Amino acid sequence: MFPAAFDYRRADSADEAMALLQQYGGDARILAGGQSLIPAMRFRLARPAVLVDINPLADLDYVREQDGMLVLGALARDAGLERTPWIARYPLVADVSAVVADPVVRQMGTIVGSLCHNDPAGDWAVAALAARAQVVVRGAAGNRVVSIDDFLVDSFTTAVADGEMALEVRFPTPSQRTSGAYEKIERKVGDFATAAAAAKITLAADGTIAEAGIAVGAAGPTATRVAAAEALLRGEKPTRELIRAAADEAAKIADPAADTRGSVAYKKAMAGVLVGRALVRACERLGIEGVR
Ligand SMILES: Cc1cc2nc3c(=O)[nH]c(=O)nc-3n(C[C@H](O)[C@H](O)[C@H](O)COP(=O)(O)OP(=O)(O)OC[C@H]3O[C@@H](n4cnc5c(N)ncnc54)[C@H](O)[C@@H]3O)c2cc1C
Repeated sequence: MFPAAFDYRRADSADEAMALLQQYGGDARILAGGQSLIPAMRFRLARPAVLVDINPLADLDYVREQDGMLVLGALARDAGLERTPWIARYPLVADVSAVVADPVVRQMGTIVGSLCHNDPAGDWAVAALAARAQVVVRGAAGNRVVSIDDFLVDSFTTAVADGEMALEVRFPTPSQRTSGAYEKIERKVGDFATAAAAAKITLAADGTIAEAGIAVGAAGPTATRVAAAEALLRGEKPTRELIRAAADEAAKIADPAADTRGSVAYKKAMAGVLVGRALVRACERLGIEGVR
């Protein structure tokens, strides 16, 4: 199907993009990689009157470390991140960058665009929740920093209001005692997740878990934090039994929809299985054995 008619406006600076977004308000949509927006327009699920193309803004294409954060600009693409040699220092982020869609989609798709699209089965929101990421949003009054929990409002809805744009996403830099992992089940390479889970843990000096971030995807209207599992892990030594209990909490709260990828019962069970696997891999990356 062809998209409904729309105007195309190319922004040559962030200021120009902001001016266009404010001029057209709710009629305008930002065009980043176009990997979600263009298909949605072709199916007429989205009918923006104006596309504001930010692709000329090369200064938004960055992957850098700054002030204890991994900072990804609005035009940082999955493929660029995947090819960043030092990204292995961020195991959770590196895991995701290798499994989003397929290599062709990753060539154009942006991490910030994925968060702004907020597909319930999207990969980046799950990792961002577990990692306690932040998104910088630019509006008429200036920039504001939004925690990922507040950013992901509902399916395909975020805290970015009409006339605003997301400038970058920030992931905290892991300490020596922090690791994480991302697990995804997909029907075939390039498919959205049937189920997905992200885990991040930080150990205290005595080997107990000081901080935990656990989230599941394709298990509700948006990626979902498993707060009960995080609470269970905090203050405890990682063991096989503890990981199993955390996984059970994920299966309990997962609220997936049945579709061609699987039944509700299957997806709930897989949310638990994947949280368990992600925790095991995070532990093993920290040198903890015997948790599998
Ligand atoms: C075949 C196929 C398979 C896919 N499989 C997966 C998958 O397995 N997992 C997965 O997570 N995703 C998958 N995707 C989606 C893909 O990862 C998209 O690239 C991503 O969701 C959106 O990034 P984008 O840069 O292409 O954004 P676009 O499509 O350009 O934009 C998406 C939405 O976000 C808004 N937006 C973009 N950037 C900004 C910004 N800076 N500020 C405010 N709003 C903004 C747009 O206006 C639009 O509403 C798949 C896509 C395809 C085509």
